[in-house]
Amino acid sequence: MNQTIIDLAYIVASVLFIFGIKRLGKTETARSGNLLSSLGMLIAVIAVFCEEGTMASWHTGAADDSGWIQNGYLWCGLAIAVGAIIGAVWSKVVKMTGMPELVALFNGFGGLSSLLVATAEFFKEGSNHTLSADNAVSEVSLYLAILIGAITFTGSVLAWGKLSGKISGRPVLFKGQQFVNALILLAVVAGFVCYLAAPWILPGTCAWTGLPSQTVIILAAIFVSLLMGVTVVLPIGGGDMPVVISLLNSLSGLAAALAGFVINNNVLVVAGCLVGASGVILTVIMCKAMNRSIGNLLFSGFGAAETSGSKKAGDYVEPKAVSVEDAYLVLEAARSVVFIPGYGMAVAQAQHVVKELAAKLEANGAEVNFAIHPVAGRMPGHMNVLLAEADVPYEQLKTMDEMNPFMPMQDVAIVIGANDVVNPAAANDKSSPIYGMPIIKAEEARTVFVLKRGKGKGFSGIENELFTKENTRMIYGDAKATISALSNEFGKE
Ligand code: NDP
Repeated sequence: MNQTIIDLAYIVASVLFIFGIKRLGKTETARSGNLLSSLGMLIAVIAVFCEEGTMASWHTGAADDSGWIQNGYLWCGLAIAVGAIIGAVWSKVVKMTGMPELVALFNGFGGLSSLLVATAEFFKEGSNHTLSADNAVSEVSLYLAILIGAITFTGSVLAWGKLSGKISGRPVLFKGQQFVNALILLAVVAGFVCYLAAPWILPGTCAWTGLPSQTVIILAAIFVSLLMGVTVVLPIGGGDMPVVISLLNSLSGLAAALAGFVINNNVLVVAGCLVGASGVILTVIMCKAMNRSIGNLLFSGFGAAETSGSKKAGDYVEPKAVSVEDAYLVLEAARSVVFIPGYGMAVAQAQHVVKELAAKLEANGAEVNFAIHPVAGRMPGHMNVLLAEADVPYEQLKTMDEMNPFMPMQDVAIVIGANDVVNPAAANDKSSPIYGMPIIKAEEARTVFVLKRGKGKGFSGIENELFTKENTRMIYGDAKATISALSNEFGKE
């Protein structure tokens, strides 16, 4: 296909990515933003496949180089169709609560693709890459794409395991961990220098393997980087996973941009940079929400402190429960009510009945607000997405910082399946693994109703003293059933 048309297609795709990302910034425009970005990706993929170079590489030059098996267009079309079917079916069957795991896997696949592209390019170009002024950018990018792609891949698979509960979400720490990590980092940097200087300092083949020394360096770099992904994510646990996910997201973009430099593909560079940059911004926002710095998070083993705060085993106090009927009497008299949603609301899919109850409280004369913690749920903006889906008015959605000063003025705070984000230990228990994380100060409301199924802990696996406070009452049961029952009480009059 004409190169000018292909270049134009790349520009259109890049513009669609930029507008798509911009529209993703607001709940009302997010759907169209997603569509625009997907369209941009389709155009980019087709344009890449139509590039003459891509198609030419399918032809082997052999005598039978004319059959369907060598028809690049057929294979590329098939790849798009298979990818589209898997993507469509997967996004249909995944539950809203499974989205974070899916995102973690997507990050991992992104990293793996960059790793494969850079590795394939290494072997395509022969096993002896001599550094020159012409190829400096692509050679440096090649090594970095392999490094970052591999770290992102194994790190994301581990994050997926932790998020989905397939492996324990607790931080895994062992003696000498910092030393092992430093050693791995040193190996990676030494590998980088050796890779670039191999044709001069290590010419010829490796005596042990018989392979060219540069090939051995690349294979070793892949292995060490895969290991590094595991050792970096392993010690991170508890509430720090949101930062890890957004960091891995950013790394997957960076790896893609580097792969773009390796194969000289501008649209991959643009798309990778957009993902990388937006991922960094999200990481900074998440770090702020957790009151953490990236260095602190990656190297201190956050969440490693022994879990149930300062309480000793004998200190256990049973939380006080209340019936729906009694809770209704308090709500009926309330003039200000704040809902604090968390992961349990997503599990229960209670957002629609919550909106219904909110409307009844308003009709009864109460002022209603929703306090949204930045890391409530299991993905950034999780609560905002659910409440927007239920058409909760935007003005009622308040950030943690907006709502906290008004908490002492609230008659009732209804905590719906939230736990870590309202845990006072974050503010007053230095031994707690979530110490320092800003929380929504639910306990300052006059009465607190906590809706949860039983004694389940939050994501970081620690006890919550809010549940045993004097002004707190538990309403046990599935959040959707409890909220529906409360809502029905209003209709009984
Ligand atoms: P938590 O995970 O701390 O607590 C959720 C609570 O919901 C549990 O205690 C559970 O108790 C309850 N629950 C579960 N299902 C139901 C149900 N059907 N009905 C009623 N209650 C239910 O949630 P938070 O939102 O407070 O905190 C989010 C945590 O996740 C933070 O630690 C955050 O760091 C972490 N995280 C956040 C990410 C993000 O990007 N937002 C990503 C990854 C992790 P019970 O079992 O007793 O019902």
